[in-house]
Amino acid sequence: MAYRRTLRRSVGCTGIGLHSGRPVRLALKPAPPEHGLCFRRTDVGVEIPARLEYVARLDHATTLSRDGVGVETVEHLLSALYALGVDDAVVEVDGPEIPILDGSAAPFVILIHEAGLRPLPTPRRYLKVTRPVEVVRGGKSIRIVPADHFQVTYTIGFDHPLLRHQVVSYRVTGETFAESIAPARTFGFLREVEMLRRNGLALGGSLENAVVIGETGVLNNKLRFEDEFARHKVLDAVGDLALLGYPLVGHVQASKAGHALHAALAQKLLATTDAWALVAHPQLPVLDLSPTPSLVLEPS
Ligand SMILES: [Zn+2]
Repeated sequence: MAYRRTLRRSVGCTGIGLHSGRPVRLALKPAPPEHGLCFRRTDVGVEIPARLEYVARLDHATTLSRDGVGVETVEHLLSALYALGVDDAVVEVDGPEIPILDGSAAPFVILIHEAGLRPLPTPRRYLKVTRPVEVVRGGKSIRIVPADHFQVTYTIGFDHPLLRHQVVSYRVTGETFAESIAPARTFGFLREVEMLRRNGLALGGSLENAVVIGETGVLNNKLRFEDEFARHKVLDAVGDLALLGYPLVGHVQASKAGHALHAALAQKLLATTDAWALVAHPQLPVLDLSPTPSLVLEPS
């Protein structure tokens, strides 16, 4: 049996918010068993659980909100906490955004490693998928099918020579995440960045924290991986699926999806209660407790 885990000690860092361009102070702190992951806005004294019911916006990033108080761009940090197996922790921020840092989850992995993990005396339960659930919108789709572990396969296809077709598939563990997924940075198209700026967004965005794609190629010096774009989509998907509130056991297959579809799949999965079960170990078979004809005894 696996046990829930929290951080061994508090850690923190400072960075700027992608949209506001303002400095934000962030702290990751241990939490008691069953607390889950949550965000605490220290400037206004509001705590927002990292759960689907608190999702407020899913356009360029994932925003959570409660009682009119929000935290933007939670997905990269949530991705790192979820993939590294942190079940219970408090994220303190003194403003409305999680710092963007280098646009990837690598700095958060370093922070979590610096904090260390501590087992809690409460068993962990996994959300194990037992039959496929799918969301299709136009040419975009995402589905989850049964598997003995957590896997994400992601296909992207944009109308740009650099990004016409990329597909990656990872079994998500603390190790594969830290090595192959976390370092992949946010990306955006130059034409979109210009539009965001005109609308007062992405004021903190720069080549220091995003891969920017122009008409002919990337404006940054070089990519961290040839398929960095598709890897970043896996990172985003893991962060959005963290909002399920349980470690996931299943294979996610996404094509041209994004935050809205990730959240829609999570919502549909939770609502389809006969498509999953809570188990104490990922490899445990899910017992079918519905009566089967062979087990129904005929009255004699
Ligand atoms: Zn992202």
